[in-house]
Amino acid sequence: MNTEKRVRVRFAPSPTGGLHMGGVRTALFNYLFAKKHNGDFILRIEDTDQSRYVKGAEDYIIESLKWCGIEPNEGVGFGDGPYAPYRQSERKETGIYRRYAEKLIEVGGAYYAFDTEEELEEMRKRLEAAKVVSPQYNHITRMNMRNSLTLSADEVQKMLDSGVPYVIRLKVPRNEEIRFYDIIRGWIVVNSSTIDDKVLLKSDGMPTYHLAHIVDDIEMKISHVIRGEEWLPSAPAHVLIYRYLGLEKEMPQLAHLPLILKPDGKGKLSKRDTSGLPMFPLNWYDERTGESYIGYRESGFFPEAFINMLALLGWNPGNNQEILSKEEMIQLFSLEKVHKAGAKFDPEKTKWFNQQYLRKKDKYELAELLIPILKENNIEVDKDYVAQVCELMKEKAYFVKDIWEMGKYMFIEPSSYDEKIIQKKWTTENQSFILELLNLLKETKPFTAENIHHAFEKFTKEKGKIEYQLLRTLVTGVSSGPSLANILEILGFERVQQRVQKAIQILLSVKS
Ligand code: GLU
Repeated sequence: MNTEKRVRVRFAPSPTGGLHMGGVRTALFNYLFAKKHNGDFILRIEDTDQSRYVKGAEDYIIESLKWCGIEPNEGVGFGDGPYAPYRQSERKETGIYRRYAEKLIEVGGAYYAFDTEEELEEMRKRLEAAKVVSPQYNHITRMNMRNSLTLSADEVQKMLDSGVPYVIRLKVPRNEEIRFYDIIRGWIVVNSSTIDDKVLLKSDGMPTYHLAHIVDDIEMKISHVIRGEEWLPSAPAHVLIYRYLGLEKEMPQLAHLPLILKPDGKGKLSKRDTSGLPMFPLNWYDERTGESYIGYRESGFFPEAFINMLALLGWNPGNNQEILSKEEMIQLFSLEKVHKAGAKFDPEKTKWFNQQYLRKKDKYELAELLIPILKENNIEVDKDYVAQVCELMKEKAYFVKDIWEMGKYMFIEPSSYDEKIIQKKWTTENQSFILELLNLLKETKPFTAENIHHAFEKFTKEKGKIEYQLLRTLVTGVSSGPSLANILEILGFERVQQRVQKAIQILLSVKS
């Protein structure tokens, strides 16, 4: 295996649906690895299976990578580099895949197979009847089928000339050791007898994934293949193809990432078990099923928090650090520190990441994000005021929308008041007490949280009590929240007075 090549890695999704978070993690690890080694990160679209092509999927992939800030420097949607085109359907037009398939035939690594669907079905039935556990087209069964290994050269030529449909299959040898190194998993040894003769070129002339990705990895000078664990079982067949092409020593180094597991660790994460969190980075509408899925972006996640969470699904920087900027991730990233065991998705932790990033944001940045939510609710306030509310509320919020949910009363006068508190505290004695408190606040100048706090302390000493909760309820409608002195300062005395007076009016009218 070549270890000195310039680092060139690729993310090679098939546009068969919405790119889910597992795919984004694969892209992210490729990105981090490329940046760490000053290499290239390429986006290649593997769209050879036209029957599974989903409209919009390609744009979705591009937009998702952009939102996550993990942009390829070469490839579909990001500016062509020296190896264009980057879409396999377009590459096919150049005849490149067929040329490689024919080369494989030439060197005895592949063969033509003319079997019809019915013949293949018959073979499966025969093998099943003979109690073969996994019926395969392989080094044994191929000898009973119609292919260029069993037919004479003349017969084969005639069939090719007369246009009989055929596929090209990989000729897997019997009982040969296939050894390859995976950076994450170490040495892997497989006996070739367990591998089937995979189709490389279909009867419509389209290459399968197995052939196409190898041709492209060679042509695009890919140095490392970093992809999901689901591709590990077919890797031995891929090694064979490189071997037949005389390129085994130059083949890219492999790294198969661990699965992302359900929160309980039992099985692969799917759309149904994310505990209410999205599976997709952005909103996704599946045209085939008519189902819509909400994205991380639309749920209020910051892209930095999303990729930070994803980076730690299967990798750790080795220093217990959990909050990592993209630059830190690049600095610390290494494939050797990626685990091979599946990584459990943790919904609570995912929200925690967002909370950490929210807390780090400047109040004006948060205000920018909150203003559109306020506008949707027909609230127009100046940015300084919004920023103050953000500063006050951000400690308890996971998302910017939580600031609105928790702090509505900072923008809208309450019209109802926590009933429990009112029942317990709204006594005749406390009614005049509240008026005294209001007088106290009126004299508190300047009306700052600090001064309000001192005034409250002094008042408590003199009177023996204060009734914070009642005051809070009259001003905000609810009985808990951030520091009352801070709330009062931001609202300003005028508004506080107005709210208390209105509350008294409402409560008295309800009582009478
Ligand atoms: N097209 C494959 C996929 O959809 C890519 C696998 C690979 O990276 O080799 O996942």
